[in-house]
Amino acid sequence: MSRSADTHCPYCALQCAMTLTPATATDASTAPVTVGGRDFPTNRGGLCKKGWTSAELLRAPSRLGAPLVRATDGVLRETSWEDALDHVAASLRSIRGSHGADAVGVFGGGGLTNEKAYLLGKFARLALGTSRIDYNGRYCMSSAAAAGNRAFGVDRGLPFPLEDLDDAETILLLGTNVAETMPPFIGHLAGAQAAGGLVVVDPRRTATARLTDDGKGLHLQPMPGTDLALLLGLIHIVIAERLVDLDYVAARTVGYDAIRRSVASWWPERVQSTTGVPALTLRRLARRLASGDGVYILTGRGVEQHVDGTDTATAAINLALLLGLPGRPGSGYGTLTGQGNGQGGREHGQKCDQLPGYRKITDPEARAHVARVWGVPPTEIPGPGVPAVELLQSLGEPGGVRALLVHGSNLVVSSPNVANVRARIAALDLLVVCDFFLSETAALADVVLPIPQWAEEEGTMTSLEGRVIRRRRAITPPGGVRDELWILAELARRLECTATFDVDPELVFEELRRASEGGIADYSGIDYAMLDRGEAAYWPFPRGSTGTPRLFADRFAHSDGLARLVPVSVRASAHPAPLPDELTLVTGRLLEHYQSGAQTRRVPELADAQPEARAAMHPSTAERLGVADGELVELSNARGAVRCRARLTTDLRPDAVFLPFHYGDGQAANLLTSDAVDPVSAMPEFKTNLVRLARVIEI
Ligand code: SF4
Repeated sequence: MSRSADTHCPYCALQCAMTLTPATATDASTAPVTVGGRDFPTNRGGLCKKGWTSAELLRAPSRLGAPLVRATDGVLRETSWEDALDHVAASLRSIRGSHGADAVGVFGGGGLTNEKAYLLGKFARLALGTSRIDYNGRYCMSSAAAAGNRAFGVDRGLPFPLEDLDDAETILLLGTNVAETMPPFIGHLAGAQAAGGLVVVDPRRTATARLTDDGKGLHLQPMPGTDLALLLGLIHIVIAERLVDLDYVAARTVGYDAIRRSVASWWPERVQSTTGVPALTLRRLARRLASGDGVYILTGRGVEQHVDGTDTATAAINLALLLGLPGRPGSGYGTLTGQGNGQGGREHGQKCDQLPGYRKITDPEARAHVARVWGVPPTEIPGPGVPAVELLQSLGEPGGVRALLVHGSNLVVSSPNVANVRARIAALDLLVVCDFFLSETAALADVVLPIPQWAEEEGTMTSLEGRVIRRRRAITPPGGVRDELWILAELARRLECTATFDVDPELVFEELRRASEGGIADYSGIDYAMLDRGEAAYWPFPRGSTGTPRLFADRFAHSDGLARLVPVSVRASAHPAPLPDELTLVTGRLLEHYQSGAQTRRVPELADAQPEARAAMHPSTAERLGVADGELVELSNARGAVRCRARLTTDLRPDAVFLPFHYGDGQAANLLTSDAVDPVSAMPEFKTNLVRLARVIEI
């Protein structure tokens, strides 16, 4: 089957709209579809180079076309689907029989469709009977999600449509480089930029920060790891200069007195010495934020991927609440979800502590509701599991996970402290990976199951706005691949699970609707037909309603309708200062690549533009270390070492070094990151690990 299809990009959470047109016989030599940008409120026809080149992956020579099973000689060999699934089911039964249900783990992904994320959670709990499921969104959105739940009682990345930003006069971007990660987004910053109100907080002078080069906006370049202090300083100024919206705070929040006390010592000069940002600039920014309507505060991974990420995101929310922004027309607070279905991926049961509808797995009512939909007694649903890092640390350990199923994740590139993750994987009895390619993780697997790509499948995604959209099939997948819904259903049957596992995405969505009904992320009023008509569907969308493009107009989601101002404080141990011979390693993204790079490194145009990791450093740092541009350097710490070429740039502070995290093996930035986690959200620290840097003498 081949037909023109209106769908969305396979990569990031902006989910740019595109039309895929099957290629004719004469031009089918390169890609089976051509990609065209489609008019849609978020991207307005625009795509970035990742989107434009996405079809290259569909017939990439390295694409997997049959299941692989590791033979006794250690080599992965092609086999039939029947044999591969029989082998997986028999191994799972044996491991479960010997070590118990929690000896089987599932690692999901924020790129899975809603239907797959939902069925994966159900499969783990019912077919495997395990509590050990979590996903790579733990590395992405967990701290901002925890902060949103704590303050508002709900976590929807943007609680308003992206187009609302068009009329903003001031936008504060904290730790997000949208100009490279989701370029069409910057169209929504134009109004604030023209009004002189674009403010970017980032230790790097990124492409986004350069949007303020016109001299009208502001770029604040704090020392890495001082985001929380900077926000506490802004709150201090807002309170000290009587810029608080007291009517809003009194009517819509609780906790103001505790906040006042918690920031009393963060006077601007102290913040200046902590962050490196001039006190005058902080005052100017605080006054601008309080100056009127049309003010938005948006956070991204730069301030969230910390061991104090929840508290940092909470401080940003506190600032927004004191200014009266959330729920006020034309203003607001939001966090920019990164992965394609980072929003939906965290709503349907992939998280270790959640059931569909963003329900708590410990809530008896939630368990009873979902159990009814699944047709099982609530006691059959296991309790909470453990978050991603803890799950990975348990691999092969006594009492830990002995078999791991991985869906939509390249965890030996994207996890913190990957050398340890590799060692733990080596101790497993069984690793099963579903993927399109032999990613770095798939290459370690005992069984690899090849799956369709985005242009070959039907389903839904939920964008960074909380808007549910349709993914549509344009072409038939290659004969040797199978959909993950089918794989889960086949495994469930082999494991003699009596629950229903539909393979038709629309039927799975129908069940998801019922399972989510009455939950925080209620999809019960959404169906494929309305999405296919192009109707905008923002959750919560209870049956019979018209959905909720904007949250918080009248009340927050806590039972009393009030937002929580939560006092937070700086933990000195969270971000140790570098010793004289150390630099702070900041990891992040490049325009050309997405996540672990497993897909984009296989697109020739993108790979040619950014073929390898480069360590970006300030020329003064390079001079001190005797390094010239393009020379080979080694970054190292107690966890590992990365060798790559140096790139000199004045865009970075002299006390930091930047490494993109899109590369594997010896260039994996996560060889250097710590698996210490945020105590609230279990988010690892990706932004302030300490490294030594030295030139490598090449012979
Ligand atoms: Fe749009 Fe993101 Fe795809 Fe680029 S990667 S085209 S910004 S959805």
